[in-house]
Amino acid sequence: MSGTWTAAREGAACAVAAADALHQGETAAVALTRPPGHHAGPAFMGGYCFLNNAAIAAQNLRDKGMQRVGILDIDYHHGNGTQAIFDARADIYTVSIHGDPQTEYPFFLGHADEYGTGDGEGFNLNLPLPKGTEFETWYATLQKALQILSDFAPQALVVPLGLDTYEGDPISGFKLKSHHYFQVGHAIAALGLPTLFTLEGGYAVADFGVNTVNVLEGFKSH
Ligand SMILES: [Zn+2]
Repeated sequence: MSGTWTAAREGAACAVAAADALHQGETAAVALTRPPGHHAGPAFMGGYCFLNNAAIAAQNLRDKGMQRVGILDIDYHHGNGTQAIFDARADIYTVSIHGDPQTEYPFFLGHADEYGTGDGEGFNLNLPLPKGTEFETWYATLQKALQILSDFAPQALVVPLGLDTYEGDPISGFKLKSHHYFQVGHAIAALGLPTLFTLEGGYAVADFGVNTVNVLEGFKSH
């Protein structure tokens, strides 16, 4: 659309502003943007994403002095753009929990045997789960992801936050319920890191706001 580039550019600026907030001592910041960003790579767009807001924020945190940044992508779809951008780097650890790309978008990346390349080998982790996965399994996987990120000892966390893990999402296949999102936010906050959320997918439009706020309320309650 004619306004797409303006919206994407302003969204990226919003992610940078969120990173600035962390630099200024805020414990958390949320970049509420449309379009989303996590499917945008270094030289490709995809999945309604044009500029990778989460990657831009993570790089901004690095540029301003943080040595290590963790990324925890909990959108239903693999964060292929983010993985592609940081694939060969050891300073930004990318972890993604998502629908198995054998059957789910983006198909060509997001498999469990992609650990990063070159200097980045061992600094990418994909945790694909089958369509139909219920909260208990998903949450156990989240705990695993959080432990790995904790071991990396980052100075900040970036969370590409998709709400298409919701049971009512029309294009996705996990079974999280609205009240589960409190627990998700609470668990992320338990890492005790300055945390920057970027808004990714979510297609159950009527419930999207409630589910987003539930994550943030859960985070705040820790
Ligand atoms: Zn998604």
